[in-house]
Amino acid sequence: MEYAQRNLDVGWPNFIAQQLSLNGMPQFALASLLNSPFEAHHKQLQRRFKSPKLQAMLSFQDLYVGLTPYSAPAVFSLLQAIELNEGVYYPVGGFHKVAKGLLTICRELGVKFKFNSAVDEILVGGKIYAYELQGGELLQSDVIVANADLPYVELNLLPEQFRRKGLGDAEYSSGVVAFYWGCDRQWPQLAHHTVFLSTDYAGSWDRVFKQQRMGSGGFNFYCAAASRTDPSVCPEGHDAIMVLVPCPLLPPTPEGGDSRTQAGGRDWDAEVAQWMETARKGVLQQFEEAAGMAGFADSIRAELVYTPRDWQQRYSLERGAAFGLAHSLNQLAIFRPSPRHPNVDDLYFVGASTRPGNGLPLVLTGARLVADDVVARRPDLFARDQQ
Ligand SMILES: Cc1cc2nc3c(=O)[nH]c(=O)nc-3n(C[C@H](O)[C@H](O)[C@H](O)COP(=O)(O)OP(=O)(O)OC[C@H]3O[C@@H](n4cnc5c(N)ncnc54)[C@H](O)[C@@H]3O)c2cc1C
Repeated sequence: MEYAQRNLDVGWPNFIAQQLSLNGMPQFALASLLNSPFEAHHKQLQRRFKSPKLQAMLSFQDLYVGLTPYSAPAVFSLLQAIELNEGVYYPVGGFHKVAKGLLTICRELGVKFKFNSAVDEILVGGKIYAYELQGGELLQSDVIVANADLPYVELNLLPEQFRRKGLGDAEYSSGVVAFYWGCDRQWPQLAHHTVFLSTDYAGSWDRVFKQQRMGSGGFNFYCAAASRTDPSVCPEGHDAIMVLVPCPLLPPTPEGGDSRTQAGGRDWDAEVAQWMETARKGVLQQFEEAAGMAGFADSIRAELVYTPRDWQQRYSLERGAAFGLAHSLNQLAIFRPSPRHPNVDDLYFVGASTRPGNGLPLVLTGARLVADDVVARRPDLFARDQQ
């Protein structure tokens, strides 16, 4: 935990809050010498723990940043330091409450919202920007902050000459099949957070990330039963359970096309249906056999399932990658696409695929840094608004 905490102490200011400066260099260099933050995470854990179970327990969190313990740099043990040293926060009422809280603050400050209006295109001409909504409505803007996922915005909304290079071949995080189950009884076998780890730990990551398939030979999954902390999420005596199963990604969307096509000779919609079925069967089996939850399937009264196709269509996530661009070394910190567009002045990005990265704390940190940057670079706008 000391090593993990050291990675957090060094990783947060330097990689996340983007304060890497000459002053911070000695501390960063010393930590690199003592801690090998760029070594593969599983290798570092293998040196420190004999038990494969402990190695697994202290590395599955790498999935949160879309990596496996075999591809993640050890600096991501900062995730364990956050979870085990500081604890995990849960917003009562669910994450939607956080969005609603921000909405209230923004409205008090005079911000106007336009809901259910997808942006179709970002137009760039000279110093004038506009974005076109579905249906053709054109809105002019001094500054654009794009919150839809960065690769999607660059590849689909920006004129081709402004696209950053290399995004088409970028490395993406994993796909995820998410099950949302409403049950007519409580399952006390599940804590708020429960993680199921495959006995074939290495193979289970390898199948999804390298072989891009979902074998029935066991997989890791995460399960949340939020009513343990927040009784408001379901009626008394019932349960609201969410399960996340890592799965393969959809193929890159062909230029101007739809990845529903038979890319690489595979029928992707049929594959997604198979991933979903495999995941559902595997989870229900583990619930019954490993957690002693006999009769779970019969207790399900409501079911909602999100597959990579839903992440792609509902949230514009390229390839259905639920956590956006992966956080591999070549896509970390200064190597991750910058929040300020390199060639288009006054076009900014927030969200999972820009810096610092995926997850609510990082996304909100990035949004704050962008807000500071806009205010610092465009004081003219704020002076005008105050007149
Ligand atoms: C299943 C799951 C569980 C997670 N659990 C956690 C967790 O417990 N803790 C945590 O910290 N993080 C969690 N995360 C990660 C976290 O949800 C993301 O990192 C975060 O939501 C990303 O923020 P974002 O702003 O990039 O994207 P989003 O929150 O998806 O916001 C982007 C918005 O842009 C909109 N949009 C897309 N295209 C357009 C368009 N053309 N025009 C207009 N609007 C558009 C989308 O509809 C969306 O509302 C989880 C992610 C998943 C998938």
